[in-house]
Amino acid sequence: MIKVRNLQKSFGDNHVLNGIDVDIRKGECVCVIGPSGSGKSTFLRCLNLLEKPEEGEIYINGQDIMDPKLNVDKYRENLGMVFQHFNLFPNMTVKQNITLAPVRLKKWTKEEADTKAIELLRRVGLERKADTYPNKLSGGQKQRVAIARALAMNPEVMLFDEPTSALDPEMVGEVLDVMKSLVKEGMTMVVVTHEMGFAKNVSDRVIFMDQGVIVEDESPRELFENPKHERTKNFLSKVL
Ligand code: ADP
Ligand code: MG
Repeated sequence: MIKVRNLQKSFGDNHVLNGIDVDIRKGECVCVIGPSGSGKSTFLRCLNLLEKPEEGEIYINGQDIMDPKLNVDKYRENLGMVFQHFNLFPNMTVKQNITLAPVRLKKWTKEEADTKAIELLRRVGLERKADTYPNKLSGGQKQRVAIARALAMNPEVMLFDEPTSALDPEMVGEVLDVMKSLVKEGMTMVVVTHEMGFAKNVSDRVIFMDQGVIVEDESPRELFENPKHERTKNFLSKVL
């Protein structure tokens, strides 16, 4: 579903991505781990064209996303993105946050929007919060709303960039549980995370990035139990 070849990106003379090659199949959950500054966020941001890749190729479902004729807005509708900071609209209810984009872009009617918002909120365990404003929610609840909002566009791929890093520890589990349920439903997911338990137990593959390259791309079992590279061993010894 996602094919990346020789992806390169620099900021000035800071060469942040140094030739990324990766294939992600439909329904796979791939976790990306690695030290801070290794290029993980930049990699995700290139996938949804928030950053312009400098060199290399990215194909999603066979479509060349570097094609200058690509309709970027249309393309992004197919990717759900969840960030560390939830970025909910504070002046809108939970339901309005979720339905804003699909009402505009998918022309949902008011009734459809209401029904689907409740359905999505049920999926993230928050159906009773539809008419609540974000400032009345905990961090974990906000992040679950952010996930529901990303799902509302019915994306084929979900990208997560450290979705639990800004949460108090007691709220991490509820967000990871929602992500786990998406994996079970067969969603294709790329998850940048420091949650090694999630990477180990839920993902199909783990990619270890360092200094803008993929050092290791393995099954979780292989990567955690039998890391091949010194850099991977060194990183894991610090985080496990
Ligand atoms: P990670 O997510 O692995 O911590 P990032 O992809 O955020 O790493 O950053 C990798 C490097 O790129 C860092 O050195 C960071 O300072 C730099 N960088 C990221 N985004 C920008 C930007 N928009 N402008 C300049 N430098 C950036
Ligand atoms: Mg990052």
